[in-house]
Amino acid sequence: MSVKLHDNYDNLVKNYLFSEIAKRVKAYTEANPEKKIIRLGIGDVTQPLCKTVTDAMAKAVEEMGVQDTFRGYPPEWGYDFLRNAIVEHYAKRCRASLKMDDVFVSDGAKSDCGNIVEIFGDNEIIIPDPVYPVYLDSNIMQGRRVTFIQANESNLFLPSPDGIEGGNYIIYICSPNNPTGAVYNKEQLTKWVEFARKTSSIIIFDSAYEAYISSDEPKSIYEIDGAKECAIEICSLSKSAGFTGTRCSWTIVPTELMVGDKSLNAMWARRQATKFNGVPYIIQRGAEAALSDEGRKECMAQVEYYMRNAKLIADMFKEKGVFFTGGVSSPYIWFKVPEGYTSWEFFDKLLNEVQIVGTPGSGFGKNGEGFFRLTAFGSYENTLEAVERLKKVF
Ligand code: PLP
Repeated sequence: MSVKLHDNYDNLVKNYLFSEIAKRVKAYTEANPEKKIIRLGIGDVTQPLCKTVTDAMAKAVEEMGVQDTFRGYPPEWGYDFLRNAIVEHYAKRCRASLKMDDVFVSDGAKSDCGNIVEIFGDNEIIIPDPVYPVYLDSNIMQGRRVTFIQANESNLFLPSPDGIEGGNYIIYICSPNNPTGAVYNKEQLTKWVEFARKTSSIIIFDSAYEAYISSDEPKSIYEIDGAKECAIEICSLSKSAGFTGTRCSWTIVPTELMVGDKSLNAMWARRQATKFNGVPYIIQRGAEAALSDEGRKECMAQVEYYMRNAKLIADMFKEKGVFFTGGVSSPYIWFKVPEGYTSWEFFDKLLNEVQIVGTPGSGFGKNGEGFFRLTAFGSYENTLEAVERLKKVF
């Protein structure tokens, strides 16, 4: 006799991607200790928190050590000061008008992308291939039925709802996309919103990289008319303010979002109040500072630093006539590997010939085979050197 385990976990495909990369890099370094490796596979930020943020957090630390300003459990949905700062951020950045009650502060977009499905029943889940693996794995863990939509070279890695039959879907959309760097324009996103409304589906829109958008593509799904009635948005300070280690994000569930007579906002509020005890006061003060005018200016300077790197890489591929997406409005550059190579074979070639580490596209889904991801999160100097090395390969 033994306890019963969740069988769904048996259905997860073992993800060897990052452990396999680490294994191959370790073997290469041991055999070639004199070679300088440049890592352009990093999905994490490298610039430190900006001063406005650390000052606000330091002040909050002081407050926590004083009787009169000490705080215990934070509100499960976030302090009003941060929820209001997020509403203001949307008004300024996205021309989208939200209410404080629509906003739920959280400890990361990753957890919310996975947890949000808990408020839904047994619906079919639509996920683009390739995409951020958390959407797929968290739904497999819940035993959900998943259908992939095809992102590929012919649709520039931006699949549309054309040809999808049926309805009542939960649809994940990530724009700017990880790993492809592709960004939906207003017309394309409008198509998705219209599809969701027509088919009684719900969109889960991941805008974790919105800060990287420098043109007029939507920074929020709520820039599209009717989105509040069919979409939840998940956003994070990880990549816009360097919070990957600090942990703060938000999820927008508009009060207008209803299924029949049930409010999704009320359900998510209940779910969070039951299973989540909030983000620390110190972190929420840092997040508020990151969204202030001064904080935003400092954070955007870092985003621009990364985007200068992205442009170096993108310009090189343009010059060489290599197909790629991203690099503009995204810190990711997703390119087609030379004819005759698989993603992993090309990984080995880059490592062995020019000592550059990237990420094989096949690790993000079937359609990622034959593609490769480089990121702009390295230093400018290393990126410059990497580009010179890459020119020898193409
Ligand atoms: N969403 C996407 C598309 C991501 O690429 C990442 C992190 O790489 C996340 C969410 C996770 O964000 P967070 O650090 O807020 O959990």
